[in-house]
Amino acid sequence: NGADPDSAGGDSTEASATEAYKRYCAGLGDRAMINLVIIGHVDAGKSTLIGHLLYLLGAVSQKVIHRYEQECRKAGKPSFQFAWVLDESEEERQRGVTMDVARSQLSTPHRLVNLLDCPGHKDFIPNMISGAMAADAALLVINATRGEFESGFDQGGQTREHALLARGLGIGQLVVAINKMDTAKWSETRFAEIRDKLGVYLKSVGFKPDCVSYCPVSGLEGANLNKPLSAELCPWYASGPTLVDLIDRLTPPPRSVDKPLRFYISEVSTGGRGTGGSGAVTCFGNALSGYAAPGHKLLLLPANQRITVKAVTSSGQDASAAAGPAIFAGDSGTISVSGGGVDPAHFGPGSVLSSVTMPCPCTNRLRAKLLLINVSQPVTKGYQAIFHQQAVSVPVTIIRLLAQINKSTGQLERRHPRYILSNCCAEVELQLDRPLCLDVYTNSRELGKFMLRDRGVTVAAGTVLCY
Ligand code: GDP
Repeated sequence: NGADPDSAGGDSTEASATEAYKRYCAGLGDRAMINLVIIGHVDAGKSTLIGHLLYLLGAVSQKVIHRYEQECRKAGKPSFQFAWVLDESEEERQRGVTMDVARSQLSTPHRLVNLLDCPGHKDFIPNMISGAMAADAALLVINATRGEFESGFDQGGQTREHALLARGLGIGQLVVAINKMDTAKWSETRFAEIRDKLGVYLKSVGFKPDCVSYCPVSGLEGANLNKPLSAELCPWYASGPTLVDLIDRLTPPPRSVDKPLRFYISEVSTGGRGTGGSGAVTCFGNALSGYAAPGHKLLLLPANQRITVKAVTSSGQDASAAAGPAIFAGDSGTISVSGGGVDPAHFGPGSVLSSVTMPCPCTNRLRAKLLLINVSQPVTKGYQAIFHQQAVSVPVTIIRLLAQINKSTGQLERRHPRYILSNCCAEVELQLDRPLCLDVYTNSRELGKFMLRDRGVTVAAGTVLCY
């Protein structure tokens, strides 16, 4: 069941799919891949922390850091050398091939970690959403400095909203880096105060306490990132797990290689111009389930067009050259198709390349669970917003309010409510302006979650219950 018989072409048999996947896994060196989104209030020290971590793990050379140090000093921004690591990758991102989400990668002993939506953006919420949509776990960075944690958490800061959104988008595992501990003199009392206050909140939005871990760090000093704290610096946490240890313990998502193919397209480039207008189309995106290789016959949805795969590239291939040209569930990459009958106009962000025999569901009507945030007025039947699913957005109307449910316990509070308020959870029926590729959240984490935005403000995180 490694391949879908109808979509497999030529010499791609079930056995060869399994073999290719085995070689691929061997190439990954037993490291499971995990997508980690970085969240937290602006100035919590996210860029510095990640930049320093990349440096300590050897992804950035000392020479580069040294150069940044000098440049930062000249620019009157001392101590930004680590944050600049990410700024540079952002530039590169804009220059290079454009992919949907910016990524940098780091390896821990058992994990290959894709860092999603690396910080540096001041307008963080929309970026955070696209990062969180694709993430398996989140790293929440908290500023331990007295007064700073409080303003990020209590006074309309982004800490609460990010945590709420991450949970609303189905992220269940969280590592909390309590950062800038150097400014709090590595105080155990301060650490405990923040951990306890956050813990109550995180539990209230649905994080299971045993899926949340806390770690005192200093991103700037590089303390407790990959080497344990010393007893002199921090006696109460000496030799406790480092940030890398905690990331290494995250449970990776199952890679559904043996399920029907779903390749989610986030960007498309047409190579027709100048090459005789052959209609070659390259789709950038993520393999959510299944696998694809040259020669496979697939269905493009919602256009309902049959295509044949010409070539593929995959993020996993850097790690596993042994696999041959194939893209497996859990990887991002490209699938190119060409030849007669391919209409480039039918390809677009949000389309899905799917198995022919078990096609991806497409619908404009769905039942969903919503977690409302930021709505200034009660939401009633007829409410209109924009439905955002990874790469695509479509106008949507709430056509029925089915139930109000308790956001922590999931239990029914009220049937057919007349309205729903901010911070409440509800079951609703939605009508989209045009059909999209979707799936029930329990079948597909990626195709089953979405956000609603209204006039540029995120108003809800949602999961698909049925369609
Ligand atoms: P971001 O907005 O969350 O990405 O935060 P930055 O990484 O840009 O950091 C914001 C400011 O906090 C900068 O001035 C950093 O030098 C400073 N900073 C970051 N981490 C630490 C830390 O661990 N200790 C101290 N004292 N300052 C830090």
